[in-house]
Amino acid sequence: MRERLSFKLSHLGNEARYDLSGSILDLRSAKTPLRFSFIYPAVGKSGCVVKLFKVLQTNMCENNCRYCAIRKDRNIPRLYFKPKELAGIFMEYYRKGEVQGLFLSSAVFKSPDRAQEMIIETLRILRRELNYKGYIHAKILPGVSYELIGETAKWADRLSINLEAPSGDYLTRLSEDKNWYELYRRLKLVSEVTRKFNLRAGAITQLVVGPANENDRDILRLTEHLYRGLKLSRVYYSGFTPIVDTPLENTPPAPWWREVRLYQADMLVDGHSNIRSCSLWR
Ligand code: SF4
Repeated sequence: MRERLSFKLSHLGNEARYDLSGSILDLRSAKTPLRFSFIYPAVGKSGCVVKLFKVLQTNMCENNCRYCAIRKDRNIPRLYFKPKELAGIFMEYYRKGEVQGLFLSSAVFKSPDRAQEMIIETLRILRRELNYKGYIHAKILPGVSYELIGETAKWADRLSINLEAPSGDYLTRLSEDKNWYELYRRLKLVSEVTRKFNLRAGAITQLVVGPANENDRDILRLTEHLYRGLKLSRVYYSGFTPIVDTPLENTPPAPWWREVRLYQADMLVDGHSNIRSCSLWR
């Protein structure tokens, strides 16, 4: 039983690494030795480092995004955590002081709403039954019903949904299953909901850099709109790395310096250099 749990934690933690919790600059300077594949450093804009328990509820996905390590057609072990099981194992690590917060994401299991409901149930158990008061970053899944965004916000401190690309044209090169305009509508709602519920760590998104042949001007135009128009807390840039046994396995990786430059430009666009306090909330 314990062995099975460790196996799931190791896989579903390792596969959660594609959702970023710090920029390439932050994470290089963090230098935090971590013992487990499901514990990751998260770096606030103030520069402080905390350890997050970052894991997928499940890697069983209905979709086939071309860049993704857990796309439906890829031959990998398929696993999931029941909500109670995941809440319990997280609390073990939290109580031991191994982690200071939770970042919970998921593949699209059966349907976006079904997968989101599993996330919501895990968070409800944590907050209501286990009395957990610490940090939670919860993922909003592509295609999810609008009302489930509000439901997730009841239990979280930060929400995110990944736009993946700077426009609909670019995204069609990466996925036939995701619609950029639908993602954008949900991100806008995520931003409104986080402000309405006064979520301490706000709303964020992430873009994959490189595989759609997008240019930096388009990325940074979008970034400016996301900070100034949608009032996002952060935008993350994930330099593309090809994964074997995916349709993009022969696409070259994004050079590391492109990601660095994007974060440098992002600092100028967002103008957040006045952040001083060390917290997870930004
Ligand atoms: S929906 Fe998410 S998990 Fe599923 S294939 Fe696309 S990127 Fe991967």
